[in-house]
Amino acid sequence: MMIIMKSNATPQQVETAIHAVKAAGLNVHLSQGVEATIIGAIGETHNIPTEIFEGLDGVETVQRITQPYKLASRQFHPENSVFPIDGFQVGGNDIVVVAGPCSVESRSQIIETAQAVREAGANALRGGVFKPRTSPYSFQGLGEEGLEYLAEARELTGMPIVVEIMSQTQLEVMLKYVDVLQVGARNMQNFNLLRAIGETRKSVLLKRGLSATIEELLMSAEYILAGGNKQVILCERGIRTFETATRNTTDINAIPVLKNLTHLPVLLDPSHSTGHADYVAAIARAAVAAGADGLIVEVHPDPARAVSDGKQSLKPEKFAEMVRQVKAIAEVMGRRIAPIKKPVTVGW
Ligand code: PEP
Ligand code: MN
Repeated sequence: MMIIMKSNATPQQVETAIHAVKAAGLNVHLSQGVEATIIGAIGETHNIPTEIFEGLDGVETVQRITQPYKLASRQFHPENSVFPIDGFQVGGNDIVVVAGPCSVESRSQIIETAQAVREAGANALRGGVFKPRTSPYSFQGLGEEGLEYLAEARELTGMPIVVEIMSQTQLEVMLKYVDVLQVGARNMQNFNLLRAIGETRKSVLLKRGLSATIEELLMSAEYILAGGNKQVILCERGIRTFETATRNTTDINAIPVLKNLTHLPVLLDPSHSTGHADYVAAIARAAVAAGADGLIVEVHPDPARAVSDGKQSLKPEKFAEMVRQVKAIAEVMGRRIAPIKKPVTVGW
């Protein structure tokens, strides 16, 4: 439930209310917005009468959060969550563009791609080093060697790096290198992994599961938020339907639905949601028109030779064209693509 404090409540009154929540055996999640201070009382609340908090000094009202996800709900946190990722803000008015190859394949491949996407206007670099492949015989990723190449690419371009984590055993090495932990579709309900990430204070990009409902996605976000990690970004990446013309079906509906249900930023991945390079720009434009806070796009200097997801990867020049189009759509929406930082190294 939410204990909404009066606008003139004193710090002492907030403290007393927090104490009462803890005494009732509930966890406290404080949300100090511009409009109001809200104390989230999270746990098994159904047997606890709201009256025990309503009578306290400084309390305006007490409301039950009706959705099964609490901290992720817009009811609990009416304003958009906005947080910084090395050089830009996510969740605010600016639209962020994350781009890079499906997999890090070599030092030269990731550095070349990083430079190209950076020049085209990308804000962050993606690249997988632990790959969730359908076949155990397919390329599984370069592991820590790949992280070192990504770190070098970050150093050269100034772009933060977004990398998928598949298990808790990878957490230690990932925390050493990455700026944003990506939880892939196949691990959206790996609850032990979500809990472990919830204990960190690293930003997370949580992708929707292959056949997960929007509510299930939000429940997974709740696992991370419940651990105290508030920097959760959601990502629609297409869902399984009967349609076979595309790899997945982009659930464009998910964007306005999520923006309505949650305060968390919402990105769209037009690469995995379509599976075809030819359709990526169209869906990227649609996503921004639908209110997405950003895009994550696969780009490869030579898609025909990519070790994974080449079919859906854009060549750098096609990606640059996509960014130009998305910029125009963003403007119509009263938004803009987040400006890029000055490069750390020039003339290379
Ligand atoms: C990826 O980003 O390369 C990836 C594996 O995505 P997803 O988890 O959405 O399939
Ligand atoms: Mn991929």
